[in-house]
Amino acid sequence: MKRLVVAIDGPAGAGKSTVARIAAEKLGYTYIDTGAMYRGVAWKALQQKQEITDALILDVVRDIDVDLHYEGGATTVTVDGTDVSKAIRTPKVSHLVSQVAKLGPVREKMVALQRKMAERGSVLMDGRDIATNVLPHADVKIYLTASIEERARRRCKELQEKGHAVRLSDIRADIAARDKADMEREISPLVQADDAMRLDTTGMSINEVVEKILEMCR
Ligand code: C5P
Repeated sequence: MKRLVVAIDGPAGAGKSTVARIAAEKLGYTYIDTGAMYRGVAWKALQQKQEITDALILDVVRDIDVDLHYEGGATTVTVDGTDVSKAIRTPKVSHLVSQVAKLGPVREKMVALQRKMAERGSVLMDGRDIATNVLPHADVKIYLTASIEERARRRCKELQEKGHAVRLSDIRADIAARDKADMEREISPLVQADDAMRLDTTGMSINEVVEKILEMCR
């Protein structure tokens, strides 16, 4: 069977990483979570304990070593050798990440790494600009979305299950702000690729979405 390259894009909380991880496992593919890489840069900027400015972020990204290791259905994210897989999922990082991801030098570095990771095929990569910019020749392109209410509910539940004290209204506002920033930025904004299949997952179960994705890959 062909070693497919599958690109999944969409707004925050659409369930991309949850379903992409399961679909990759079923296909025996590697899952590449590009959002985790931008989160890693944001995490490192926060460690500097200084006011976060674009200059600080650019300084941080200059010699950063971000790595993803996918094994047994789980991704380990390291930044300069430190395992930050959990630390990058905090509301603080989510709040900062779009400011980090809009900067050209940050994107150039991450996109080069992402393209290298996809070189051997049999990969499922999710993010915001995968089909439009990182892997424009992907074999399968999917734009995954859901209503903002449902996306906020899902994200809120996920964070609460991890022990974070969060409110639905705050999560909804954060997601809306992040979508706006991601869709309106100058470099590689979030947009559905012309040749991507759109999948609205509102009201769908995780299994149903995974099945649809597998169908699209067949
Ligand atoms: O996918 P996730 O919500 O973890 O992504 C976090 C942030 O990283 C996004 O809101 C976006 O600002 C940025 N991102 C990006 N391009 C990608 C993946 C993520 O700009 N390919």
